[in-house]
Amino acid sequence: MRKLDTKTIVVASHNAGKIREIQDLIGPFGFAAKSAADLNFIEPDETGTTFEENAAIKALASAKASGLPALSDDSGLMIDALGGDPGVYTANWAEKPDGTRDFGMAMEKVEAALSKTGATEPAQRGARFISVLCLAWPDGHTELFRGEVEGTVVWPPRGSQGFGYDPVFQPQGYDVTFGEMSAEQKHGWKPGEPQALSHRARAFKLFVETCLEA
Ligand code: IMP
Repeated sequence: MRKLDTKTIVVASHNAGKIREIQDLIGPFGFAAKSAADLNFIEPDETGTTFEENAAIKALASAKASGLPALSDDSGLMIDALGGDPGVYTANWAEKPDGTRDFGMAMEKVEAALSKTGATEPAQRGARFISVLCLAWPDGHTELFRGEVEGTVVWPPRGSQGFGYDPVFQPQGYDVTFGEMSAEQKHGWKPGEPQALSHRARAFKLFVETCLEA
């Protein structure tokens, strides 16, 4: 296990929602972090079949391009009634023929697939968000951290905060969706606290415990 001994890193993402959340999470630790999007790095093809593989592809691409440690996130929504779909292909479900992404359309696709299976009751609509964070160094070393949060897919979408599929995901034990939560509520975590809520904050807490704390 390797510790991080610099406060200058790259956030290896081109996804504005993720960049905002990762910047929020690393902020209190005093990092100066530019994103792969800010640096105009090419977005690598996500050719892996697991969150871990894709997270490593993205972090290694930014670490090699920048000469700095890079932190990536590969994430997705796994829905029980759909056999774990869309899973690693969560972003692809939002892709339109012109290459842009439409998450309203993606949430409708999810709902159509769930309706087809007859999953109308909350108990039949269990799902989890997964986030795998990868910290990669320019020499090729990687550390991986996985966070998961259980919940239910709701319909219609509720709330306009967050990004992606947040308006249809209601975490277990809450009566609001991620889309109805502030960023602080969705993270559900601050440095030093024992619990985190979102998949990304849970993975980030492991990153802190492994790579930052003595
Ligand atoms: P990828 O990691 O680039 O393959 O994309 C993962 C996709 O999963 C994102 O584009 C989002 O649509 C979705 N996703 C991941 N994390 C979240 C989240 O915290 N809220 C909502 N959607 C998410």
